Amino acid sequence: MTEVDLAVIGAGLSGCSLIGRLQQLGSDLNIALIEAGRGPGGRAATRRRREQGGWLLNHGAPGFALSDSIPESMEALLVPLRSAGVLQRDERAVLALDAQAGLSPANCPEACPDGGWWHGIPCMASICEVLLDAPGSMQLSRQFETRVRWLERRQDHWLLKNEDRSWCLKAKRLVLSGTLLAHPRSLKMLAWNDVPLRSAVEEGEDVGLDAALSLLQHSQAEVRWNLMVDLGVLALNGEQLPAQIWLKDAAKERWKVERLVLQPQSDARWGLVVHGLDTGEAITPESQGRLLAQEHQRLVELLPELLQGLPVVSAALDQATPLGVMRWGASRPLDHPLPKELQWCPTSAVGFCGDWIEGPGFGRAEGAILSGVNLAEQLHADR
Ligand SMILES: Cc1cc2nc3c(=O)[nH]c(=O)nc-3n(C[C@H](O)[C@H](O)[C@H](O)COP(=O)(O)OP(=O)(O)OC[C@H]3O[C@@H](n4cnc5c(N)ncnc54)[C@H](O)[C@@H]3O)c2cc1C
Repeated sequence: MTEVDLAVIGAGLSGCSLIGRLQQLGSDLNIALIEAGRGPGGRAATRRRREQGGWLLNHGAPGFALSDSIPESMEALLVPLRSAGVLQRDERAVLALDAQAGLSPANCPEACPDGGWWHGIPCMASICEVLLDAPGSMQLSRQFETRVRWLERRQDHWLLKNEDRSWCLKAKRLVLSGTLLAHPRSLKMLAWNDVPLRSAVEEGEDVGLDAALSLLQHSQAEVRWNLMVDLGVLALNGEQLPAQIWLKDAAKERWKVERLVLQPQSDARWGLVVHGLDTGEAITPESQGRLLAQEHQRLVELLPELLQGLPVVSAALDQATPLGVMRWGASRPLDHPLPKELQWCPTSAVGFCGDWIEGPGFGRAEGAILSGVNLAEQLHADR
């Protein structure tokens, strides 16, 4: 059985920042990164199309804001990304849409953060890809398309297994960058009958872990239904359309949509992502297919109404191809941030990173990156 010093579950911004920062700090750990998705990115991932090389659509976060003053350690992680041109400012316009489908410049802080927008070039997933490729002396193995289902805490190590237990890994230390294995939401959604991390360490064995799990139990997250659309070729350059169109409150209420994201492709095509808000019904393995089809139809039918203020785009709808709906079960945590002091639980040698950790940028990409950096510093100091 493969044995590593550290297993990191999740290749989103937080997991990749943790690994990238450990590399920068000169760590010599032997690390395994395990990710359920096909590649790195998590909620800042990019959808590709097998039949169309070069198609890159950011179907989760299209970009993010960064606070004016970020800690030195986080800045150190971002500097090489900026110098390589992988993390760039997005100077394109951001508009607001009112309930009559009228467009105006956006001015709410969410749509127009003080420091502006940053995005990944050529796509959001590039940020995570480059973080994982940071030069250093760590040994890093990457295991994609593997969802960890079972966790066992043995005397001095962890055992991780996939659903049918055909894959297994032994690790001295474990980091969870998502809440899937620690939050009861997985029970209904995946029809699991236990919270894997709770089953692995009995209540009372680790006070810190107990506190973390009991806090997490109460936390809630927003659901998103994102419709992806290929708008075909538009005779426009990248600056002629807004990057994002945020719906004002009354418009959100009317259409149950948060924003529209437009993304030029390398071959003059344009991609559109409609960020649909939750319409309420809980998702289970049984309801999933029906709800996806329902949201797909709902969002496709809204397109002519939502896009009437952009004649070039609305004229292209005849040639547009919907590419399906992506459901983000926990697009953003809403409450009960995990205190920083619970990020690492030494008794069980388990730690957490992600946008659900307390701090600036909670619930956003900035918080995810910062949490990974902070945990890296702590793991490196405790080695
Ligand atoms: C639609 C949408 C729009 C957003 N817009 C913005 C925005 O405008 N600005 C902003 O700042 N933020 C935005 N966000 C939030 C931002 O994307 C997240 O805060 C950030 O990407 C979270 O990174 P993370 O590493 O904490 O989590 P994630 O990206 O969720 O990474 C966790 C990873 O762990 C993997 N994983 C979990 N459990 C397991 C398991 N058991 N086995 C294997 N792998 C597992 C998951 O597949 C995932 O890839 C948006 C998010 C969404 C979904």
